Amino acid sequence: MSSPNTPLDLSLDGGALTALLVDLPSVSGDEQALADAVEAALRELPHLTVDRFGNNVVARTDLGRAERVLLAGHLDTVPIADNLPSRVEGDLLYGCGTSDMKSGVAVQLRLAATLAEPNHDLTFVFYDCEEIEASRNGLGRLAAERPDWLAADFAVLMEPSGAVVEGGCQGTLRADVVLTGTRAHSARSWLGDNAVHKAVEVLRRLSDYAPRRVVIDGLEYREGLNATRIDGGVAGNVIPDECRVHVNFRYAPDRSEEEAAAHVHEVFAGFEVTVTDTAPGALPGLDRPAAQAFLAAVGGEPRAKFGWTDVARFSALGIPAVNYGPGDPNLAHKRDEHCSLTAIAEVEARLRAWLTGA
Ligand SMILES: [Zn+2]
Repeated sequence: MSSPNTPLDLSLDGGALTALLVDLPSVSGDEQALADAVEAALRELPHLTVDRFGNNVVARTDLGRAERVLLAGHLDTVPIADNLPSRVEGDLLYGCGTSDMKSGVAVQLRLAATLAEPNHDLTFVFYDCEEIEASRNGLGRLAAERPDWLAADFAVLMEPSGAVVEGGCQGTLRADVVLTGTRAHSARSWLGDNAVHKAVEVLRRLSDYAPRRVVIDGLEYREGLNATRIDGGVAGNVIPDECRVHVNFRYAPDRSEEEAAAHVHEVFAGFEVTVTDTAPGALPGLDRPAAQAFLAAVGGEPRAKFGWTDVARFSALGIPAVNYGPGDPNLAHKRDEHCSLTAIAEVEARLRAWLTGA
């Protein structure tokens, strides 16, 4: 299946294809050569329609199936750390991007090349700039500017998950609890009103706080509300007139951003609370028919995703999404990043069984 137009041979097995992808460096912002190669390889496949937007490539089948499944992966990597070219040691492929997430991209490409008659319509999304500031994220730009390209009933984000299904993701909210007082000389402290002392009550509410655990679609999410920093104080002889307790609320995806903010305001009732940053969670959506068939085919016990990932972008579009990929999340971004060749083959086989089964 290789052609003079692309260095990518999609008839190679997933491990060998991962090595090819890894040896085509694509640090964030520098994905063009890899995006060109992916686009050229996909254009060789008559059963796919291919679109390009910047360094984002989207390929899809149009077979009129009842449901559409979307498989997504980012093309970029963190900066290379003397870990190219790739090398194999036993069952492990070493190199920048092996785990996060060119092994997942290789599986996407293998499925794109070989599933001409899948049981769901398929959309394959390859995007850029995932590892840097959110405003440049290719999936975010597609969602904003080409949302119709992302239409689907269920999405699988092939980020490293250790070949375990990780459902949805938690939301995150940052806020400042602002305490004010009156500044005065510390020799005449009765003329002032100490703002730092008022943090005691805020900290008491935090240490008494009982974080919620909630089960959604069979997955347990654990919330957390924590102080991450305290700012206050003017000088060694001044009664401070302001103190800020920075808090971070990690919340389960059954709360909206608005509900999460309302909860934080309620916990700190009587205090001034300023929300500084917020990102919504994503529901796992494991009750959808496409997701049920997915879980049955890939097997294993799904677990909740505790960090924030791009699955939330799908959720914002009303598309349930899970993380499922061959890489090991604990090895992402590390100098000795590697991926199990067996895991790559296994993830491909399980997805193939799902997308071809009755
Ligand atoms: Zn990643």
